Amino acid sequence: MREPVTAYVALGANLGDPRAAVLAAMDRLGTLPHTRVTARSSLWRTAPVGTTGPDFVNAVVALRTTLPAPGLLAALQRLELEAGRERPWPNAPRTLDLDLLLYGEARIASPRLVVPHPRMHERAFVLAPLAEIAPALVPPGALAAMTSQVIARIP
Ligand code: AMP
Repeated sequence: MREPVTAYVALGANLGDPRAAVLAAMDRLGTLPHTRVTARSSLWRTAPVGTTGPDFVNAVVALRTTLPAPGLLAALQRLELEAGRERPWPNAPRTLDLDLLLYGEARIASPRLVVPHPRMHERAFVLAPLAEIAPALVPPGALAAMTSQVIARIP
């Protein structure tokens, strides 16, 4: 039996009812095999970065899982499809986007999976919710340096 690993997953949606999509995805993550959700951030409303369209709802969850990293990524992609995600063009608006931010201490650079997620430290919509559930993982001052990104916690 593999040792459980703590993984962090970023959730985002900006089509349909994004708040409902993110909340439903958090629940679905807890139903993955050999996986439980150990922490959930608040929901955050954010302006799109690198794309257009309605505002996003974003969040981050911590998972405790014995799924191997590629298996976890495949499970995330199945949940995206289940949520009706289409990919008409890169960065198109999406009903659900799930990114694997961190998988324990692992450093992975395969064609399909890069961990730690290469853009996580540039994105306020990842760092703000991550700081709520794992403050030690967010470098001091990182968020303060991102004042141009419009982001607000949903009460
Ligand atoms: P996106 O359209 O932003 O969801 O990107 C999905 C693509 O990124 C897929 O082809 C994945 O194989 C790849 N990918 C690489 N690293 C990661 C990661 N850490 N989390 C999610 N997708 C990843």
